Amino acid sequence: MDEHNQKPELYDLLPLTLQGLPLKRRRFLKTSALAGLGALSGTFWAMPANAGEGKKDDRKFIAEAAYYEKLQHKQVRCKLCPRHCVIDDRERGYCGVRENRNGTYYTLVYSRPCTYHVDPIEKKPLFHFLPATLAFSIATAGCNLNCKFCQNWQISQVTPEQVPSIYLPPDGVAEAAKKYHCPSIAYTYNEPTIFFEYMRDTARAGHEQGVKSVVISAAYIEQEPIRELAEEVDAIKVDLKAFSDTYYKDIVRGELKPVLDALVSIKKSGVWNEIVYLVVPTLNDSDQEIKGLVKWINQNLGPDVPIHFTRFYPQYLLKNLPPTPVSTLERCKAIADAEGLHYVYIGNVPGHPAESTYCPHCGKKIITRNGFVVSDIFIVNGRCKFCGTPIPGVWKE
Ligand code: SF4
Repeated sequence: MDEHNQKPELYDLLPLTLQGLPLKRRRFLKTSALAGLGALSGTFWAMPANAGEGKKDDRKFIAEAAYYEKLQHKQVRCKLCPRHCVIDDRERGYCGVRENRNGTYYTLVYSRPCTYHVDPIEKKPLFHFLPATLAFSIATAGCNLNCKFCQNWQISQVTPEQVPSIYLPPDGVAEAAKKYHCPSIAYTYNEPTIFFEYMRDTARAGHEQGVKSVVISAAYIEQEPIRELAEEVDAIKVDLKAFSDTYYKDIVRGELKPVLDALVSIKKSGVWNEIVYLVVPTLNDSDQEIKGLVKWINQNLGPDVPIHFTRFYPQYLLKNLPPTPVSTLERCKAIADAEGLHYVYIGNVPGHPAESTYCPHCGKKIITRNGFVVSDIFIVNGRCKFCGTPIPGVWKE
């Protein structure tokens, strides 16, 4: 299962606070979980005494926003994502985590994750990035999109005050990643664009400690910040939601073109990139749309960008559709294969042969996967062990 659409019963990978437990119970479990983590690792960050109580001094969680301009009458215009929100004094932008205070614009989620977890990198999914390793994964509240199928709506569609959080500054994230044997930090679960400053500084702190960073994003972001981000991180996985403006407008409340532009910038930057396409029955699964999608990828990004066609499960506001038939995913893969893309995967179907990686030259299986489990890797020095063909990706820590 990838992170953006999986069966509800697999919520065990989400924080306990998100599972509809009564507040007192949630607090108890959260405290227990944190205590357990500390006992395993020793103290590696300073958690405020009132973490999770919603009464914390918010001054330690705010930082001036990176991309905005000041306007007249104490208004500001945010330039982080294509929404370009214009915000009055004491108001917030669409994502709910950025606030105008007396004409200066602030992020309210700096060092303020509401969840963290150690995940297999395959869960992101990133299949050509340090396979069979772990990623220390963090998220905050908020999002700049409203996907009707969002798996993590309990954190993405709320403000920072509506979900418990902890104080975890950038160097604390890097230190935690090292303590839990994670060669990478993942910014994930919600849309990390909206905690851009925290992500950027954490990536820098990670590199100082020898830890890489991977971004799991819908890439609904402006050009300048995506270019800056691409300089700071080691991989960006983009959820390309559809290949139509209508779907972006109706199902996720965004736009397609800025996402395509971001993908081109990511490609130009040279940072490792993979694409996930969640195939939603009847909404974005036509032959015509998939053909347009894979042709655009081939022409603009090249055939080596891995694309994952993943299975949709009904949830959140989109419960009226069935799970994606496996035959539909196989049809999408066949279209991408026919276009000449080299690494076409099927996701959220554990045990499917298209979870594994095959050398595009000799056809041999070079990484064997079953769900998140990797059993064999036949890549040596970035090349197929059988025929020596270079396999694109990040293979060494
Ligand atoms: S990042 Fe948030 S405040 Fe800024 S433009 Fe996007 S939605 Fe609006």
